[in-house]
Amino acid sequence: MRKKVIAANWKLYKTPAEAREFFRAFLPMISGHTRDEVVICPPYVDIYVAVEEVRKSDITIGVGAQNVNAQHACALTGEISAPMLRAAGCTHVIIGHSERRQFFHETDDLVNAKLKAAIAAGLISIVCVGEVIEEREAGLTEDVLRRQCTRAFAEIAADQARAITVAYEPVWAIGTGKTATPQLAAEAHRVIRAQAAEAFGDEAAEGLRILYGGSVKPENAASLMAEEEIDGALVGGASLDPKSFAAIVKY
Ligand code: PEP
Repeated sequence: MRKKVIAANWKLYKTPAEAREFFRAFLPMISGHTRDEVVICPPYVDIYVAVEEVRKSDITIGVGAQNVNAQHACALTGEISAPMLRAAGCTHVIIGHSERRQFFHETDDLVNAKLKAAIAAGLISIVCVGEVIEEREAGLTEDVLRRQCTRAFAEIAADQARAITVAYEPVWAIGTGKTATPQLAAEAHRVIRAQAAEAFGDEAAEGLRILYGGSVKPENAASLMAEEEIDGALVGGASLDPKSFAAIVKY
């Protein structure tokens, strides 16, 4: 039985003071919760506060970044490396979110390079994959997922697969209020797991956690999480409010 992971992606929201306020409200709400792993991915500038607050908590919560550069210690103004994230107390990092692919032109090969850098630094990656609406309507969802996974997993050894979590995020469901049905998500998860089996072997693929992301809310979390193939959630908008994210964690 795979332990579920409920992860928050705060995107470009919350100052350090707002992040601290969130944790002070949220942590008591989920005190004692051990059923699932909880991860919060704030903007870079909030990582220090997030790490400080979760270390005071009675439960283990991961802190992740939303992006990482594949390089380290070189002339790349404005970038942050995987060893820096690890040193700052991060346990996780989101890689290849559709907003990075769409607005920052991140390619499958760059996702692969970032994933390798994150693994080398000892971070757990949440690798995002998913089709846009035109691809779904053209019947290309499986092809897109196969390509994204094959490229992301390239040249990564089977024993490194435990540092990988995948988030299936159909782009048409992100921030739109449209949620994939648990059945539709499960179909996509099976395609992803099959690609993981090709890359890493059956045992590693069986242990791979595949999260669903796309308009997860307190109202739909339980039905999505009841699906055996869905190993957790990556939550954007509904993770910004402590009450709403706590309700999702406790689905
Ligand atoms: C996300 O940002 O990864 C996401 C799934 O956003 P939302 O929950 O707002 O759709």
